[in-house]
Amino acid sequence: MTPTAAVIGAGVAGPVAAMALQRAGIDATVHEAHPAVADDVGVFLTLQVNGVSALRAIDAADAVTGLGFATPAMRFRSGTGKLLGAVSTGAPLADGTVGVTLRRADLYRALRDEALRRGIRIEHGRRLVDARPVAGGVRAEFADGSAVTADVLVGADGIRSRVRQAIDPAAAPARYVPVLNVGGYAPPQETGARPGEYEMVFGKRAFFGFAVAPDGAVWWFANPPRRDEPAPGELAAMTDAQWRAWLHDLFAVDNTRACAIIASTPGEISGWATYDLPSVRRWHRDGMVVIGDAAHATSPASGQGASMAIEDAVELGRCLRDHPDPATAFAAYERLRRARVERVVAHGARSSNAKAAGPVARVLRDAVLPLFLRRQAKQATKWLHDHQIPWEDRVVAP
Ligand SMILES: Cc1cc2nc3c(=O)[nH]c(=O)nc-3n(C[C@H](O)[C@H](O)[C@H](O)COP(=O)(O)OP(=O)(O)OC[C@H]3O[C@@H](n4cnc5c(N)ncnc54)[C@H](O)[C@@H]3O)c2cc1C
Repeated sequence: MTPTAAVIGAGVAGPVAAMALQRAGIDATVHEAHPAVADDVGVFLTLQVNGVSALRAIDAADAVTGLGFATPAMRFRSGTGKLLGAVSTGAPLADGTVGVTLRRADLYRALRDEALRRGIRIEHGRRLVDARPVAGGVRAEFADGSAVTADVLVGADGIRSRVRQAIDPAAAPARYVPVLNVGGYAPPQETGARPGEYEMVFGKRAFFGFAVAPDGAVWWFANPPRRDEPAPGELAAMTDAQWRAWLHDLFAVDNTRACAIIASTPGEISGWATYDLPSVRRWHRDGMVVIGDAAHATSPASGQGASMAIEDAVELGRCLRDHPDPATAFAAYERLRRARVERVVAHGARSSNAKAAGPVARVLRDAVLPLFLRRQAKQATKWLHDHQIPWEDRVVAP
């Protein structure tokens, strides 16, 4: 009989996992809590070359071709406007493909549509509430009262993963990272930025970044520092006017375009808190496994959340293809992935903390950063961006 998988979550990791599992000869169904595809919450993100390369391993990269725009480089400045350095976002792939910046909702939609095109079932409105091993596999129970049993259960259900909890009820909760996120799309205007280059500004009071899209629109984000974790509902209760006033106050002291870009942004501005998961101690148990943010959420500062989720999903497919016994496959998957993703999460946390630096740390940071960026520009981050998944190669059992 064809082995089956229930994949929980149709964000980034879920549809890719289902496609990789299908390639591995496993019949996967995706169960998503939301009744429809996510809206533009979270604004935009970057899909790095290693993420595109991982999609290519299962011939799914065409699904994202033409979405967003190429962003192969970043220039860093201090709040005075002084150039601190520039780095690439990874060496181009053999055909010249570089990292892209795209709307989060567009990425979700593209991956979901590609999975559907390949005949994968995606069921919306199915919120997992419990999962447990039963004879013949794992039983997943949903809030609408329905349930399914599959040979394996893949938790691609994001940072607040229910599957992670089912695997380890004592799993540590997500860690608060002391910067907030806010962003938007401003109309075309003079910014002085080069096409395809992020301008990243370590302002005196907060971090600001933007890139200019091919149509001239300015895609921006800001990271107001916030030491203590916001109370539930606190950020959602802030009005557009409050966000704008606060951001103006944070960036008025800098010699940058931040205030003008934010002021010209139409629509409601709102922000959200940042969390990560530095080390989830159990990734799998009894036919259940977590991938993507559910296993290792990283602060957006790493720029790798989506790419790591895609890499995980493809590697999991490879492991289950070569080792039908779930325990062996999951152990192989963890061995392939854990060190790499935890290094990314640590890098993201360091970058976020640098953005939240106080006055003394800021002076140090601005002094050291040019040296660090020069070193990074030389070595690039080869371990991160040049990563390739050898889909055809057999995974060695751990
Ligand atoms: C609101 C938000 C905004 C973000 N913004 C940015 C950004 O601007 N830039 C950036 O770089 N990264 C951002 N990220 C992070 C980035 O999107 C993730 O790293 C990436 O999407 C990881 O993919 P994933 O599939 O593991 O998790 P997700 O993309 O979070 O997908 C998880 C999916 O599981 C579903 N789900 C959750 N619980 C259940 C359940 N119990 N039952 C069924 N389904 C469930 C969710 O609805 C969701 O569709 C954001 C994440 C979130 C949640």
